Amino acid sequence: MVSIAGVCLFGSLPAKATARLQAWEFDTGQNRFMFTTDSSVQPRVSLLLQPKRLVIDLPGIVTDEAVGNQFIGGAVTAVRVMQADARTTRMVLELDPSYSLDPRQVKVWGMTSHQWVVQLPSATQTATAAMTATPKAAPKASPPPPSSPSRPSAADPASALPPLLSRNQVTHAPVSRSATVVQGVQVTQEGFFMPIQGAAPQIQVYRTRNEHQVRQLVIDLLDASISQALSPQSLPQGRYGIHHWAVTQFSTNPPAVRLILNLDAASPDWQVSLVSGGIWLTPMGMPASQIATAPTTVVLPMFNSAQTQPAQAAPPPAAIASSPAPQQPAAPQPSRDRIVVMLDPGHGGADPGAVGIGGLREKDVVLAVSHHTANALQAQGIAVQMTRQSDQTLDLQPRVDIAESANATIFVSIHANAISMQRPEVNGLETYYFSDAGHRLASVLHRRVLGTVAMNDRGVKQARFFVLRRTSMPAALIEIGFVTGATDAPKLRDPQWQAQMGQAIAQGILDYIQSGR
Ligand SMILES: [Zn+2]
Repeated sequence: MVSIAGVCLFGSLPAKATARLQAWEFDTGQNRFMFTTDSSVQPRVSLLLQPKRLVIDLPGIVTDEAVGNQFIGGAVTAVRVMQADARTTRMVLELDPSYSLDPRQVKVWGMTSHQWVVQLPSATQTATAAMTATPKAAPKASPPPPSSPSRPSAADPASALPPLLSRNQVTHAPVSRSATVVQGVQVTQEGFFMPIQGAAPQIQVYRTRNEHQVRQLVIDLLDASISQALSPQSLPQGRYGIHHWAVTQFSTNPPAVRLILNLDAASPDWQVSLVSGGIWLTPMGMPASQIATAPTTVVLPMFNSAQTQPAQAAPPPAAIASSPAPQQPAAPQPSRDRIVVMLDPGHGGADPGAVGIGGLREKDVVLAVSHHTANALQAQGIAVQMTRQSDQTLDLQPRVDIAESANATIFVSIHANAISMQRPEVNGLETYYFSDAGHRLASVLHRRVLGTVAMNDRGVKQARFFVLRRTSMPAALIEIGFVTGATDAPKLRDPQWQAQMGQAIAQGILDYIQSGR
């Protein structure tokens, strides 16, 4: 049997069956294993000697599917992640036999209660010299990526996607001194600009994917720290296809800042350029001549409304830019008027709407999807109202009245389509508008949903639907698939798909709002 030289034994918390392992990565340069769970965890770490392996158990955490092996190479030859039992995820780091590991040098610490780092001692003892090459490359060189868990996902990749509207994260840690301070992230017309104070940092850029196969851009800034003013609220929200920012004081001694950007399908690849006063993120291929030495235009966050912005939140980016950037142009003030999105789940109560394959009812599907949309928007600080929140009968005029009396900014009606049961081959997404203002809303919404959810495209169309004609604000009506369609119906009844569709609609609405309604 194996002998256990147990180290770093932690107590365990009561299990919570729904908590999941979100991501892990092994950084070969730092000889460091990191993982993130979606709720608090107390890992149990032990070292087994024959064969030599480090075992990290996560009580109360489940993994999505059977997740296979990830070959790493070097001191850690492979990482295996498995469901040890119904409530425990086990991560096994297989160690090279020649790697002499002193258990007392294994350090485990939580950056937060759900973000942990397992630091292995330097791998200099190993035979594999390449492992020890800590990248000290010049900015924009390409050191080896920090593991890219690229194993194929057993699950449907679409359903394995995390929510589009996940919140940004900022993890501060005390740093006594650093050459560079990252001040914030500004949205500009060209991309993003990160003002920095102090010396130009050494930058390492990695392109990888997380365990959900989401594309990630990882930017490490060496000898750097995070300004105390930088908060999750001050980071961009869903701009340019980046749906999640994580800024972490990745290491405190020596200080290093890591930015992880989760890119959705709409995001280009990004190039990282160091200029006087900060760092540019611009779409790959943008000629250097077009990249200013400092942003010429800063697009302020949309979500600074009094409703959502905490009083002590970070100042708007224009105020952060006390960087050497010369004469920052005065940016326009953020709009103070409050955005209200009116969601209108079609039908309800006595009116089931279309009834399709297997008795699938439109009124049920669209209510579920609408709730997902509402939740996702509210998570972004957007005020949402619904014409109905439950299975209630509601005529068309009252829906219009509700939107008008709420002084809604935009109106989005959510329906599912139907055709004869003899036409199961008819499937796909349709989005309708009546006015010109509604046309842009419908187009942006349609494009985002198609870019997020795999569906047949049946186009954006003008129609004289009552709720589109009688509402005074920009209005769109989206038909999220055919309850009579052989392809669409199984999706429409799938709760996971409903959540994905609801989030995609929310993202489409955000796209519309952010592109300046
Ligand atoms: Zn309908």
